[in-house]
Amino acid sequence: MRKNIVAGNWKMNQNSNSAKELFNGIQSGLNNGQVEVIVFPPSLYVQNIVETRSNTQVKVGVQNFYPKDSGAFTGEISTEQINDLGIEYALVGHSERREYFQEDESFLKDKVDALLSKGITPVFCCGEPLDIRDSGSHVEFVSKQIESSLFHLSEEEFRKVVVAYEPIWAIGTGVTASSDQAQDMHKSIRGLISNKYGSEVADVTSILYGGSCKPENAHELFSKPDVDGGLIGGASLKPDSFLAIVDSF
Ligand code: PEP
Repeated sequence: MRKNIVAGNWKMNQNSNSAKELFNGIQSGLNNGQVEVIVFPPSLYVQNIVETRSNTQVKVGVQNFYPKDSGAFTGEISTEQINDLGIEYALVGHSERREYFQEDESFLKDKVDALLSKGITPVFCCGEPLDIRDSGSHVEFVSKQIESSLFHLSEEEFRKVVVAYEPIWAIGTGVTASSDQAQDMHKSIRGLISNKYGSEVADVTSILYGGSCKPENAHELFSKPDVDGGLIGGASLKPDSFLAIVDSF
């Protein structure tokens, strides 16, 4: 069966002390052993978090990296360096990176390949802006994002990918997709994967929902058959709210 996952994207928040406190609060407060828990701290604090880790149920990921092993890429971190710290996950395709850093489909494809070549799991984010949702073409839009950055993968490679559906109109806005809207999109994504890689691969692919997911709505979202967990922004910055979401399964 596929994994249930709750992942916290801390974005550009916290300082060295508060990051450690947040991480300790999460790792010491976990009591739902059935869920894979991942945190994505700012890169600067990742090593410290890895060294602070005593509960291996909590996995650590990076929010960003450059898809090369090493070289003259000032300011970047490499997949080789991520691997060196034993990092198991990385975000790819978050809407903020697509929008503010012009990461396009072909660059995202390179990022996915770079991660898989090091055995690191991409959490591939996709999702439509509000005008696309309003026009009714959201399924086509998201399908194209997935096809263009993931469907060059072999079946064996694709099995390692986690997908996160994050409608842009719901990220950081307080507006959550309804559980039916999330389910409809997740079902379409699973169908797309099934058509390309077969139903067994689609069945084992975890598809997370992201966009103003919080303790108040997580249970309803996670109770939908194709919603396998959440990628959480704002509500991942406090141990209590993040742990309450983990407990929503
Ligand atoms: C995100 O940015 O991945 C996210 C889901 O943010 P928020 O939960 O704050 O909407």
